[in-house]
Amino acid sequence: TTATATNIDPSEINLDNHPCFSKGACATYGRIHLPIAPKCNIQCNYCNRDFDCVNESRPGVTSAVLSPGQALAYLDKVMEMRDDIAVVGIAGPGDPFANPTETMETFRLVREKYPKMILCLSTNGLGLTENYVRELAELKVSHVTITMNGVDPEIAGQVYAWARHDKRIYRHRQAGELMIESQLQAIRWIKQYGMIAKVNSIIVPGVNDTHLPQIAKTVSSLGADIMNCIPLLPTAETVFENLPEPDAKMRFGVRLKCGEHINLMTHCARCRADAVGRLGQQNTEEIQQLIRDCSR
Ligand code: SF4
Ligand code: SF4
Repeated sequence: TTATATNIDPSEINLDNHPCFSKGACATYGRIHLPIAPKCNIQCNYCNRDFDCVNESRPGVTSAVLSPGQALAYLDKVMEMRDDIAVVGIAGPGDPFANPTETMETFRLVREKYPKMILCLSTNGLGLTENYVRELAELKVSHVTITMNGVDPEIAGQVYAWARHDKRIYRHRQAGELMIESQLQAIRWIKQYGMIAKVNSIIVPGVNDTHLPQIAKTVSSLGADIMNCIPLLPTAETVFENLPEPDAKMRFGVRLKCGEHINLMTHCARCRADAVGRLGQQNTEEIQQLIRDCSR
């Protein structure tokens, strides 16, 4: 199949208002994550499932998981309370494409009601088929983030405990191969269908810290727009719990080398799967209560 031209019309949706992609927008505009995707299809060695997907979020329990219908009702209430929400994202608390029915239904509902909203999602890339990418483009989802931690199967294979695909479990090098293949193909499709592609990579000391520039080079050659190098936050009860946090020298060095290949996002604030508001703002008690109320 050949890709159709993108359906995204910048005269309708102001793509510059995405706070995670534009430094200028992050003081003015906020985003809301709809926590509709509880399951995950892989196990990252830095992720404790009691918390959110750390690929795009800070550890901290999601207040509740919502159905697509509940998520729309919740969004309506938040839109009444605030006037700064320019972006609706789906980022967990598991992975959007381990819950594709809920993910696509939520985007359909939100797009129908909010024609000018910027829509984005963050995924590990596994399960993102060309059909989903095509429908995302039709729904004018404009920003897609893929988290990838290696382009070498041996290295990526050390980051994933397992990956589940077509009822098979992959481990070690095979898990690395499966994830890399899925992620690189996802980036190709995202660009083919005219969307903005961001790559998140977790800096894992001694595992992939010297490898991140290779990721930057590879994804840049496929047309990825921007990269976000996120330092590991060692989390209890994970394989990587005893690794050190990347120090300033490592963080700076990795970003300098990656920046030779691709634009970097440098104002990242790790956010929860149910984050609301400007980057770096904490969810208020009121919001946490609202999510719980909407889940009933
Ligand atoms: Fe955790 Fe996200 Fe990795 Fe799934 S993709 S294991 S939720 S960090
Ligand atoms: Fe979208 Fe990621 Fe920003 Fe959330 S953190 S709004 S998923 S780019």
